[in-house]
Amino acid sequence: MNKTWMCLICGWIYNKTWMCLICGWIYDEAAGAPDEGIAPGTTWEQVPMNWTCPECGARKEDFEMVQI
Ligand SMILES: [Zn+2]
Repeated sequence: MNKTWMCLICGWIYNKTWMCLICGWIYDEAAGAPDEGIAPGTTWEQVPMNWTCPECGARKEDFEMVQI
């Protein structure tokens, strides 16, 4: 089961997942993308703007937050 933690004061959510709208590749903030040089625990905001999907090369704006 995938747990998500939310700050009750500001609504900030820890452990968001983002999905590539083009190929369906999932970025999990808790897992990061070590093969791509993104350390586990890296939030989406901290992922470099020039980072691209490892599967299809889509840019960050082609990803959408999803709830699993
Ligand atoms: Zn993709």
